[in-house]
Amino acid sequence: MKNTTVIESVRALKNKKISALELAQEYLSQIKTQNPKLNAVVTLNEECTLAEAKAADKALAQGNAPDLTGVPIIYKDLFCQKGWRSACASKMLDSFVSPYTATVVENLQNVGMVTLGRANMDEFAMGSTNESSFYGTVSNPWQLDAIAGGSSGGSAAVVAARLAPAALGSDTGGSIRQPASYCGITGIKPTYGMVSRFGMVAYASSLDQAGPMAQTAEDCALLLNSMVGFDQKDSTSLERAKEDYTQGLNQPIKGLTVGLPKEYFSDGLDAEVAKAIEDVVAQLQAQGANIVQISLPHTELSIASYYVIASAEASTNLSRFDGVRYGYRTPQYDDLTDMYEKSRSEGFGAEVKRRIMIGTYVLSHGYYDAYYVKAQQLRRLIANDFQEAFKKCDVILGPVTPSAAYLQGSVQDDPVKMYLGDIYTTPVNLAGLPAMSLPAGFNSKGLPIGAQLIGDYFTEAKLLNIAHQIQQVTDWHKKMPAL
Ligand code: GLN
Repeated sequence: MKNTTVIESVRALKNKKISALELAQEYLSQIKTQNPKLNAVVTLNEECTLAEAKAADKALAQGNAPDLTGVPIIYKDLFCQKGWRSACASKMLDSFVSPYTATVVENLQNVGMVTLGRANMDEFAMGSTNESSFYGTVSNPWQLDAIAGGSSGGSAAVVAARLAPAALGSDTGGSIRQPASYCGITGIKPTYGMVSRFGMVAYASSLDQAGPMAQTAEDCALLLNSMVGFDQKDSTSLERAKEDYTQGLNQPIKGLTVGLPKEYFSDGLDAEVAKAIEDVVAQLQAQGANIVQISLPHTELSIASYYVIASAEASTNLSRFDGVRYGYRTPQYDDLTDMYEKSRSEGFGAEVKRRIMIGTYVLSHGYYDAYYVKAQQLRRLIANDFQEAFKKCDVILGPVTPSAAYLQGSVQDDPVKMYLGDIYTTPVNLAGLPAMSLPAGFNSKGLPIGAQLIGDYFTEAKLLNIAHQIQQVTDWHKKMPAL
């Protein structure tokens, strides 16, 4: 069953080629042999996985079980899951076993998906390299000394290495699309508000959005069907009529207008990445799409705007980790203030502390107008750029990142260098738009390159269809690393 997609697993389970229990056991044994090389999975709970698989087999035997029944999945370590350590890859939550389950996880459990384990990530989803995890760096399955990307690096690596047919990630400024691109898989960040954030540990609440990561666009569509939906426990959840994302997957793309933002193809872009995007353009043209050049003039301001807003929100969200209610508490302290200080300085890693410091600074009296308010104004300009662009095109195509995955350790002393790599992904979150990453080839070192499709609000079905059409005529998404 190795190298099977979600759709293929669904078929194999329905046709009784394999039972949910056998499937779970196969993946667990793969994880045990391969994970020591990757460090992509941080928690297993075999007893729980096998119990869920047995329940899935029972439901399948009774007939009428939902399509995803018995299909295994791995959750990024920031989704709270009852009975599982939900640590956000932080020392702060290392001992936290969640008493409740995130809505999005519950939605997938309700359609019978089986939890295989929990994926490594950057601590509290802050990072682009998966090097800030308390549990250590995730290796890229295509080249073990390269980064898998972040913050959903573990989720991307498990799918790429075929340790699970699917994983859940979250995307605040690119954390689904960027690791998906570095690891050669497909991932989608839906329109803000489509997937409930309840039970997903908050990093930057106005930007965070959960999404599926899998081998193909078709798999992502199937997963998304069960993930989206209104949730009264999330005040920013959207109430919309349910869509079936798999229904629109065979629409011809003839006549579609695809915009290439000139700012996404400027100096900082690696030549091999640019070439890979050109190959995707050629595929789209061959299928009858029209290509136009567009402009997103405020692109270069997105990094500054994003890192001010994300850090500001992070500093307030993370104030709840104080050593009192849950999480790490320093063993020795003099008084309450000392306990707060020690618990937080010992419990958080360097990148998280950096964000808290920046966030507290930009929100402080005297700097609020100069930084936070300015960043919010830029955010509006960036969102307006996209609305202008969508007057000229149906979707936008561009790179996900300026380069393919780089060597571990190369940006650790220079966080700003790391932040600059988020130039093509953060504008999407600032605007709240849907966007996806799909495999678009390999560079001369054999590392994957991703292409990004960005759509207007609620055009997930359109993006998934375009990606699916590309995947019908290319085989980049079928390639598998030799581990
Ligand atoms: N790299 C970005 C950051 O560090 C995005 C992370 C994310 O999307 N969670 O904030």
